Amino acid sequence: MQDFPLTITSIMRYGTSVFGATEVATWTGDGTRRRTYAEVGERAARLAGALRGLGVDGDQRVATFMWNNAEHLEAYLAVPSMGAVLHTLNLRLFPDQLVYIANHAEDRVVLVDGSLIPLLAPVLPQLKTVQHVIVVGAGDTAPLADAGKDLHSYEDLLAAAPADFDWPEIDERSAAAMCYTSGTTGNPKGVVYSHRSAYLHSMATCTGNAMGLSATDTVLPVVPMFHANAWGLPYAAVMAGAALVMPDRFLQAEPLVRLIEAERPTVAGAVPTIWSDVLRHAREHGSDLGSLRLVPCGGSAVPEALMRGFDEIGVRIVQAWGMTETSPVATVAHPPAGATGEDAWQARVTQGRILAGLEIRIVGDGDVVLPNDGEAVGEVEIRGPWITGAYHLDEDPGKFHDGWLRTGDVGTLSSDGYLVLTDRAKDVIKSGGEWISSVELENHLMAHPDVIEAAVVGVPDDRWQERPLASVVVRDGAAVTAAELREFLSGRIPKWQLPERWSFIAEVPKTSVGKFDKKVLRRRYADGGLD
Ligand code: ADP
Repeated sequence: MQDFPLTITSIMRYGTSVFGATEVATWTGDGTRRRTYAEVGERAARLAGALRGLGVDGDQRVATFMWNNAEHLEAYLAVPSMGAVLHTLNLRLFPDQLVYIANHAEDRVVLVDGSLIPLLAPVLPQLKTVQHVIVVGAGDTAPLADAGKDLHSYEDLLAAAPADFDWPEIDERSAAAMCYTSGTTGNPKGVVYSHRSAYLHSMATCTGNAMGLSATDTVLPVVPMFHANAWGLPYAAVMAGAALVMPDRFLQAEPLVRLIEAERPTVAGAVPTIWSDVLRHAREHGSDLGSLRLVPCGGSAVPEALMRGFDEIGVRIVQAWGMTETSPVATVAHPPAGATGEDAWQARVTQGRILAGLEIRIVGDGDVVLPNDGEAVGEVEIRGPWITGAYHLDEDPGKFHDGWLRTGDVGTLSSDGYLVLTDRAKDVIKSGGEWISSVELENHLMAHPDVIEAAVVGVPDDRWQERPLASVVVRDGAAVTAAELREFLSGRIPKWQLPERWSFIAEVPKTSVGKFDKKVLRRRYADGGLD
């Protein structure tokens, strides 16, 4: 067979020619801007020419500080295809983390959305390697002026660049894009995706056991393009010739629901916290989300109540699991053939079935590999062609084990490939030598009709070393008590696991990618949480 490289260039060439008439719609809040894939392809060529003109060469890093929109897609295609490396910056990071990441990656250029200038400007002088700032869309550029960088307008650069670009031949193993972990587990670490890994991940995403994307789909990536490449959805959509609908900065339930009603996407991916807001809104307003055939959801455990709630309005949530290090999609929870009713639900509440090309194993104390029997609990290790083998300029041998990535997640694997996570290693609650799954407690609590969000953390306890503390957000106007919630839980979980510590809060603190920030809760209740 021919040894033909698997590259983002070839995804771009295929999608923007064969599906040249397919559209990318970007939401403006009350309407959409539309561009065809052919136009996106031409603009990507112009962007590559402009970047080359600014001196971008070799595998230099071009950062984006942008929302999900057509221009971000143009950068997704242009930067890797010209041989440079796309570095998506998370715009919700604390300023010192942003500075650390941009300097660590040695970004040369930053593309910034005009609306995000106020966030970038204060840190820009500290971004030592950045020479050029390209402003996309409208915005007051005055705050950027004194940072000592060359400022450019995206549209002016594109207008001045040729419509064709001589795309280089690229080694499929060379770096295409990079993304830093969101730091839930400590200092952000850089994961570098290769052309090959992005290509194979996109193909896997398009298979029927994953999202089954095709040219008949319209994909809405709500998950930000700076969060593990929007779960790979943009590349997979271009590969499949699926249309894209981009939410831009409008990520609240109300504008999202309007966007869904107007553009009728068939597939939409976002973390559970977004979908629970959307579900509440849709129920209150009788919204029509019926265009969605599949809602991939992950990033944290998907509460069963959320999935059942969506089922009731005719929308199917499919849980998926992965991490920045795994490109990210690794497992997807479709039920096995023939399973219906509660049998299907048993599979749907798992983190999902492993995709072809990847391998998972469960490892116990002393690095002993445990059986895949759906019972033995241990750390999840994974390997495959879209799993990172190292972090960028950061030796962290503790994260790797004989060619496998140690995920830091704890769970079981069944003989037919379904992964069930009981916790993250650091979130497991160790009470009197026994383990309590915080995720299981949260799931049961969030099934209570008055509970909107629940996060459970382990807090120090004199007698048991650690006990669970439940932080609960209740529905407006509800007056549910701790005693009632304990009563609700009993019968669902063993009695010794019932939390005796409760706190009723207005909102669970979230990380920069919308996950429950348990670090903050652990700090808040470091004294044990007993009044
Ligand atoms: P960070 O590690 O900084 O949170 P990631 O977005 O890469 O950033 O998070 C990956 C982690 O998210 C996984 O290791 C896992 O703990 C959690 N996660 C992802 N999907 C799921 C899921 N479906 N169920 C439970 N946890 C999940």
